Amino acid sequence: MKKLLGYLGVGFHTSVNILLNALSGGRFLWLEGRVQGGVFHNWALDHRYRPRRVARPDSEEAIAEVVRTSQHLRAFGAGHSFNPGVVSEENLVSLDRHAGIVRADPETGRVTVRGGTRVRDISRALLDRGLAFGGLPSHDAQSIGGILSTDVHGTGRDWGFVSEHVVRLRLVDGEGRSHDCTPEDPLFQAAIGGIGAVGIISEVEVQAVPRFHVEQKVEISNLDFVEPNLDRLIEENDHLSLYLFPFTRRCQINSWNRTERPKSRLGELREFLAISLDASTAAWAGGLLAYTKLLPTASGLAHRLKKGTNLVMDSHAAYNRTLYHQHQEYEVTVPYEDSLVDIRRFIDLYEKLYREETLPYTLFEIRFTPAGHARSLLGAGVGRRSTWIHLVTSQSEGWERYFSAAEELAKEIGARPHLGKFCEACDHRDLERLHGERFATFVKLVHAHDPQGRFSNAFTRRVFGTGQPDRSATGSGEPSRAGSGAA
Ligand SMILES: Cc1cc2nc3c(=O)[nH]c(=O)nc-3n(C[C@H](O)[C@H](O)[C@H](O)COP(=O)(O)OP(=O)(O)OC[C@H]3O[C@@H](n4cnc5c(N)ncnc54)[C@H](O)[C@@H]3O)c2cc1C
Repeated sequence: MKKLLGYLGVGFHTSVNILLNALSGGRFLWLEGRVQGGVFHNWALDHRYRPRRVARPDSEEAIAEVVRTSQHLRAFGAGHSFNPGVVSEENLVSLDRHAGIVRADPETGRVTVRGGTRVRDISRALLDRGLAFGGLPSHDAQSIGGILSTDVHGTGRDWGFVSEHVVRLRLVDGEGRSHDCTPEDPLFQAAIGGIGAVGIISEVEVQAVPRFHVEQKVEISNLDFVEPNLDRLIEENDHLSLYLFPFTRRCQINSWNRTERPKSRLGELREFLAISLDASTAAWAGGLLAYTKLLPTASGLAHRLKKGTNLVMDSHAAYNRTLYHQHQEYEVTVPYEDSLVDIRRFIDLYEKLYREETLPYTLFEIRFTPAGHARSLLGAGVGRRSTWIHLVTSQSEGWERYFSAAEELAKEIGARPHLGKFCEACDHRDLERLHGERFATFVKLVHAHDPQGRFSNAFTRRVFGTGQPDRSATGSGEPSRAGSGAA
């Protein structure tokens, strides 16, 4: 029964999400984090709770005032993260009213935005000025503050992280003091990927580039071709990612390349139709095959039916694919050199567990970022050339069991976790082991900028080992999963 309800729930949420987005001309996404009737829920609707207080500051001074008058607070942008980082033990701070463009200089291409501004709104504002982000990740509904706080990455031969476009940010720390930081500052690097532990990102200055077109290609291929040619495929494309599927050698190659070619006719509509079809197929057909135990026999055939696409669009439209499918994400990085072996381990784990118990439909998204990322202390892609192994699992019966096993595997092989994704077993000892000196620097900065632990919650105390619990909390602010009754 739980399996059936979960399956129908994913199909229903995915379909309604597509429909409402289409009817609103792309302006409204049903699956987004928000506070409704005093209850917060995240994007996937699995973290739900009633905060003791909700603040909606509309200026940096107002943010500082909220900080000074709270014992505990957590900020959120679009609630697109997959863990209890957004759960506050006292005050939950929505940055929706602290959004929009502060100033734009078309000469230098520098545009300053408030921390709660959604990436899709920044992209539109840049386009109006003949500008664009140099590169973007795969989704555009998140806030710029949330994106930077989890060091969001995309994929690329030479480019990997949204933080690479940031030349300055402003941060309100745990004492309510404002700081102007540039990429060389340790405080900047602690804010990028530090999930708000050193402060609230209130303003971001982006270095944009002249707008450009991107050719987005989706090709259906086979691992027998991809594995021996991986280096060359990455080298030949500006941005490359792979979708791998369990029980088949069929795979999907996604590439994005800058082009002078004109835009495809009705490119954005065709893209909308393609991604809506992908999401519906994953939710309805993928779920059905997974739960009827037909995946091992049907996976190869099903993925052979898929057709590729080739579209030229404005860069932001080509990079950002609105993801409608209600799913959960767990993601880690491994050194690029270990890619093929480690990817196989996560797929083998799924196939093994699938044979033993109920698991939902899952695909594996593989992305690549270059060496030399130095804008974050604790980001999963810092320092080394990385391969990102991203488990994308329908949010229905069995996903937590697979993710728990995957976390065990990640610990065993020393993979680094993405702190915006599922993260239930990782703690500060793991991060210390994985990040060494950088972790020690991070902790020192947290103590210096949030000495009273105002930004801490149960999640940050676990992963960073900093901050004090709120003794007066009665449980209303503790992390909970939907359905467990806390809301
Ligand atoms: C459909 C989908 C696609 C995704 N694609 C990608 C991808 O391509 N690459 C990738 O790396 N990740 C991806 N993610 C993960 C996710 O986008 C990020 O982790 C990001 O945090 C979400 O931004 P947000 O505004 O929703 O942040 P929230 O979920 O609201 O917040 C994330 C964390 O940052 C803190 N925070 C939020 N705003 C601020 C602020 N202004 N100052 C300080 N702290 C703050 C919050 O307390 C929380 O701990 C995806 C998620 C979804 C749901």
